[in-house]
Amino acid sequence: MRHIAIIGSGPAGYYTAEAAIKQWGDDIRVDVFDRLPVPYGLIRTGVAPDHQTIKAVSRRYEKTALTDNVRFVGNIAIGQDISLADLQALYDAVIIATGAPHDRDLGIPGADLPGVIGSAAFVGWYNGHPNFADLNPDLSGRRAVVIGNGNVALDIARILSKTRREFEGSDITAHALDAIEGSKLDEIVILGRRGPHQIAMTPKELGELGELERAAPVVDPDDLPAVTDDDPLEPGQRKSVQWLRQFAANRVEKPLRISFDFFARPVSIVGKTRVEGVEVERTKITDGKLVGTGEFYMVPCHLVISAIGYRSAPIPGVPFDEKAGRFASDDGRIAVSPETGGLYAVGWARRGPTGTIGTNKPDGFAIIAKLAEDIARGAIGPEGKAGRPGFDALAAERKLDIVTFRDWQKIEEAEVAAARSGAPREKFTLVEEMIRAGR
Ligand code: NAP
Repeated sequence: MRHIAIIGSGPAGYYTAEAAIKQWGDDIRVDVFDRLPVPYGLIRTGVAPDHQTIKAVSRRYEKTALTDNVRFVGNIAIGQDISLADLQALYDAVIIATGAPHDRDLGIPGADLPGVIGSAAFVGWYNGHPNFADLNPDLSGRRAVVIGNGNVALDIARILSKTRREFEGSDITAHALDAIEGSKLDEIVILGRRGPHQIAMTPKELGELGELERAAPVVDPDDLPAVTDDDPLEPGQRKSVQWLRQFAANRVEKPLRISFDFFARPVSIVGKTRVEGVEVERTKITDGKLVGTGEFYMVPCHLVISAIGYRSAPIPGVPFDEKAGRFASDDGRIAVSPETGGLYAVGWARRGPTGTIGTNKPDGFAIIAKLAEDIARGAIGPEGKAGRPGFDALAAERKLDIVTFRDWQKIEEAEVAAARSGAPREKFTLVEEMIRAGR
């Protein structure tokens, strides 16, 4: 019998658990740890609340979670409740699937002014992540700036633009729904430091901007390259650019504008006691490289949300690639020894915040193949680690308050029961509330 600990219960964690069961069947025990009392990571707290069909992938993870040999161990923070060394002593392999929960630094003056919010916090706020439930963003201004040209920037602009009616069927938290309904915004500026051909936005998500009730996208036709320049783009990217062309050609007037400002690199955030504007340098692409033109202008605003990508949270003692913001590994393999077993990273913790949810499936299966290989070549040491019963003994000794998958199911039932009409659930936003509902 082999024992695996997976840290993190998001897509990377559960696809890895699924792969382990496929590989070893009854000869494996997998414990999936999460610092929160609730599973599924970014599926619950990252994927936009109005994208319920994407969130439905959690049913697949539930199937894995309910198999006999996989166990959810919620409300346990590795590094606080129990150390990585403790886990390594108990399990044959520890697999880090903790994602990339921190925002990449904007690295410009004024980035710490009140009113500047990172996407991790902002997305966490509208999605009911307990760490950000009391963020209370100030939506009383008329203009917000979203920095970044990825799908997260699009999610944020769309969520800020929707009416209460458009949130029907979503599980946006009540506090965010009320705040967004009361917002005074009439413009959301999406700043991209490069141009339309360099966006990291996908067609479906872009197209949604054209269907909003009270908001419409605005693209300056002058920012678009010649149509024939689209030919070499890969098909998905070409489709995205076609959306931008459509927005530029058919300008629709609605009370809230979502303005794309391309070739616009933020250089500082200004304001006396809180953000009052973003100073931007006009850029151009020369020989494929981003260069500043020396032309500067101000975008006055009351709120800035940076959506420029994420970083993993280091774990003391585990090699970390500071520049890339993820664990340092040889394609997922961090360290392997007969004494401490195998230590691996998977998902965003391994490759950084790229790809879709589905990308984590081959990632999970690949890491299990590596573990199987390391066991087969004798690099990991013989069977006989204490595993699950060993962890339970340690948890009892330390009086750790574990939330099981059964407890989570009770939390879920309570959230479903509390849902407003038409919504799938109303999430608990406080850890204590979650734990109480699970008991
Ligand atoms: P992303 O796709 O990497 O986009 C980050 C954006 O920020 C890029 O446009 C980048 O521009 C820009 N940026 C980076 N540093 C900057 C700086 N210092 N100043 C100005 N701009 C800067 O990241 P993301 O939007 O956070 O998304 C993360 C992952 O989740 C992606 O794989 C995304 O597709 C996925 N996701 C998918 C969905 C969906 O499918 N519905 C929804 C949300 C997220 P450059 O290109 O110039 O670096």
